[in-house]
Amino acid sequence: MSTWSLVYEGFDPDQEGLREALCTLGNGYFATRGAAPESEADGIHYPGTYAGGLYDRLVTTIAGREVENEDLVNLPNWLPLTFRIDGGSWFSPEGVEILEHRLELDLRHGVLNRWTRFRDPEGRTTTLTQGRLVSMEDPHFAGLVTTFLAEDWSGSVEVRSALDGRIENDLVPRYRQLAKRHLEPLEQGAIGEDGIWLCVRTMQSGVRVAEAARTLVLRNGQPIPIERRLVEEPGYVAHDLTFDLAEGQPVAVEKVVTLFTSRDQAVSEPGIEARTWAVRYRFGELLGRHELAWEHMWRRFDLTLDGAGTERAQSILRLHIFHLLQTVSANSIETDIGVPARGLHGEAYRGHIFWDELFIFPLLNFRLSALTRSLIAYRHRRLPEARWAARQAGYRGAMYPWQSGSDGREEAQTWHLNPRSGRWLPDNSHLQRHIGLAIAYNVWRYYEVTGDQEFLRFRGGEMLVEISRLFVSLASYDEASGRYEIRGVMGPDEYHDAYPDREQPGLDNNAYTNVMVAWVLARALELPDVLSERHHRELREELGITEEELERWDDMSRRMFVPFHDGVISQFQGYEDLEEFDWEGYRRKHGDISRLDRILEAEGESTNRFKLSKQADVLMLFYLFSGDALDELFSRLGYPFDPGADILRNVEYYERRTSHGSTLSRLVHSWVLARLDRPRSWELFLEALESDVADVQGGTTPEGIHVGAMAGTVDLVQRGYTGLESRGDVLWLNPNLPDELGRLELEVHYRGHRVRIEIDSTRLVLTTRPGRAAPIHVGFRGEMVELAAEGTIAWPLA
Ligand code: BGC
Repeated sequence: MSTWSLVYEGFDPDQEGLREALCTLGNGYFATRGAAPESEADGIHYPGTYAGGLYDRLVTTIAGREVENEDLVNLPNWLPLTFRIDGGSWFSPEGVEILEHRLELDLRHGVLNRWTRFRDPEGRTTTLTQGRLVSMEDPHFAGLVTTFLAEDWSGSVEVRSALDGRIENDLVPRYRQLAKRHLEPLEQGAIGEDGIWLCVRTMQSGVRVAEAARTLVLRNGQPIPIERRLVEEPGYVAHDLTFDLAEGQPVAVEKVVTLFTSRDQAVSEPGIEARTWAVRYRFGELLGRHELAWEHMWRRFDLTLDGAGTERAQSILRLHIFHLLQTVSANSIETDIGVPARGLHGEAYRGHIFWDELFIFPLLNFRLSALTRSLIAYRHRRLPEARWAARQAGYRGAMYPWQSGSDGREEAQTWHLNPRSGRWLPDNSHLQRHIGLAIAYNVWRYYEVTGDQEFLRFRGGEMLVEISRLFVSLASYDEASGRYEIRGVMGPDEYHDAYPDREQPGLDNNAYTNVMVAWVLARALELPDVLSERHHRELREELGITEEELERWDDMSRRMFVPFHDGVISQFQGYEDLEEFDWEGYRRKHGDISRLDRILEAEGESTNRFKLSKQADVLMLFYLFSGDALDELFSRLGYPFDPGADILRNVEYYERRTSHGSTLSRLVHSWVLARLDRPRSWELFLEALESDVADVQGGTTPEGIHVGAMAGTVDLVQRGYTGLESRGDVLWLNPNLPDELGRLELEVHYRGHRVRIEIDSTRLVLTTRPGRAAPIHVGFRGEMVELAAEGTIAWPLA
């Protein structure tokens, strides 16, 4: 692995799923796993293609109950390309002797290269080279070029190039008992001389998906005469191409594919578009434009680390940026998609969208804020549904779903399977009302970085107000304590969804939720200060905001209840009564204990009884807010809080009681320790980096990457170690590099400027490029200066 590529040598069936997920190619419109073109879903390989926002809902009867699930649909496989020599059997790696095999994901150019040299049972030696792309520039295009080289033989080769819609959503073993056939074949056939096409429709959502492919056979780049035969059946179409291959003279087979759906903008009908466009471009032309698009994306998103032993971190960070941009990119702007927690890389969590955006948007805000704006619009379009959900539950405002898909209704499952015990269990995760707070937080942070008033007037402000209203109506006032409480919810830690001795699910006064409520309400109260007088008046009129409401927001922002015990913030009220957990004993017995929920349930026990967490919960507060912001927040709430001492005490307390069963967890722990314990922070950062590339949870990455952890680790370098913060109209920095990180360079976009940030142990240098944007204010350790275009400012770091 160089810092610009991911390389796998040899073939390892056990690793294949992981490699396929990590070698996925995508462009923010659709993505395709890195499965071999000759493979089918067979327990080892799993070709999968997914388009952002393309869902379908099916009902299954399980244990006498009707379960409805919405899935990101596995679309027709455009990859299929196999071959046989002299009428023998179709190529499969199992049927030949593999002499060499290498897979290389080229991050810089966005190309997946494969090189396989094999000897078949007839003793012929052949080299197969393949290059593939999913175009970053032309989002409806993908391409695959295969070159055959006969080393010691001459003969005839028959290539089968297909589009296969006879597939299911079958990647995740835990979901296999649920309905999984989402595609219904509509039409397939030939296009002119050299093309094929296929159209399918999703069962319930009725989305039409069309793919077309043109396959050409080339010698020295020129098409050669071949025999071509059409093979078709409902949901499947192929061209069989026969040509002669002479020893030592390579022949290339180029397959250019288009994908359109009835959800697309600027199309007539997907079948027409797919057929028309498939014959317009050749692979080489697509490749040139694709590489240029990636070059520009890298210019915008890259960062460089320097220091002994940072090479692996550098390459994984690039891998993370790469996969983030394949999930959402410039191509996603102004389309109706959110960020699925597991990317467009697999089927885990069914392509649903959670609070993970909280870990993703801060990176995007400083790199491509138009993308954040577009992704927040995904939530805004679902505001009516969130309002309806609140109303149905007897609340005001807008109640966003814990898991979101097509139309914004709650997609969290009501029952889930513990694969360890084989039992179906009630799933209460929808009680994570804090999802709305994350959305409000994202709205505000986007505004702070961009100063985008129009967004706040027409999108963000409305969401902020409606989310505030929900939490006001969820809260009740306790006369005795003079504080507001929120009962019956779940915090981010999914190992606690109920009290051990209480019938109904939910916990009282999750500290993270309550503090976030106070913060969000304080922001909603700031709207008059940041919007123009007229805009604010209009917003008030539209939303019918009353004086009493404003008073209530103000009161609640000062008097939310926060539980404490033993000098730390309690994760929720009553946490101190739980039992300590036998960490050592369980580690000895089970080794990997990250998924304690499954382990304990299988033993007839419950995580609810113990002081243990799946992931950061209280500590989320120190992740989201700087020491200064926390100081302000707690003093507004009237609780004594000394960031210097209290953060460390809380971190130490919860660090000992967290299993890191979510990949988001180590990232948060590393972040909060960045200023308190740099060596430990760096250690956790390195561990967080390994989440996907080493599949540390043992089997989750093959089902889809973890976009939150990927983007979050990049942002940990971007903001965590630099102290980058947009507060008011000032861009603050406060670098604190771990010792291992000798030097760091990155560029952020801020208020029309591209600001280059260079940090080493001696100085911090900010440079802007030429441009026409107004000067900005930048600050370091209390000193604030103006920085204009083409300016430089350097501060010594003691
Ligand atoms: C975590 C959630 C997260 C979800 C999707 C779960 O395992 O506990 O916090 O939102 O995965 O990434």
